[in-house]
Amino acid sequence: MTPGPPASSRVGLSQTDPVVGPQAEVVARIPGAAAHGLVAPPGCPALPAARLADPAWLARLIPQGTTSPRVRATVWWYSASAVLTAPVLAGLAVGRPLSARLEDTTVSLAPDGRPVAAVSAAGHADPVAGLRETLGAVVGALAQVAGMRARPLWAVATDSLANGLLGLGRALGDVAAVTALAAPLAAAVGPPLPAPRYVDVAGTRFTRRVSCCLVDRLPSGATCLSCPRRAPGERQALLESVARGH
Ligand code: SF4
Repeated sequence: MTPGPPASSRVGLSQTDPVVGPQAEVVARIPGAAAHGLVAPPGCPALPAARLADPAWLARLIPQGTTSPRVRATVWWYSASAVLTAPVLAGLAVGRPLSARLEDTTVSLAPDGRPVAAVSAAGHADPVAGLRETLGAVVGALAQVAGMRARPLWAVATDSLANGLLGLGRALGDVAAVTALAAPLAAAVGPPLPAPRYVDVAGTRFTRRVSCCLVDRLPSGATCLSCPRRAPGERQALLESVARGH
């Protein structure tokens, strides 16, 4: 995928502010919070997340390239959805719920237009409705821009939700408790968001994917470790190998 001009020059954004407010309390409770997309890297341009529901803005953020719009949009969403859902998942994981509404959220962009961190400016006792609105708005706009069906993008969001809670569970030292939030959260959001799934292999929990991120369609793309198209025996052997640290 060819990145094209830096996002900051394409869209003329200000720089991201430090994390303050309710998300700062959440960040303080999560070891290595920056690795979970919760802390804006210094110098990154900032974008009101509501822009992600605007097809014109999305068209500028999705990298240019020779692959199809469907591939480029899906790969972009695979990382963008992980970042966009990071605050709400982190808030739930530590019992300090944050708003998932686009209007309450700011995202930081890498030079290639990928969101790399998100900050929610508001707490919210029940963020489910906001999460449903956010995913629906961005998926709808992205499907329009890419000329593709929305359903595969909803599935990508499910895997981001599952991966996000798994990573937070590892950081907090309680994978079982934090990943147990995934299924009820997705059910509360409701269709067309598919149910997240996990699989335990050799004592280690992995996301059992429901989506295909299309990364192997990129010129430099490799086959995903947990690709649902792998033969079950091959996938199991690979996950065992990872679980055992080989
Ligand atoms: S390797 Fe599998 S999961 Fe990854 S993009 Fe290709 S088909 Fe999808």
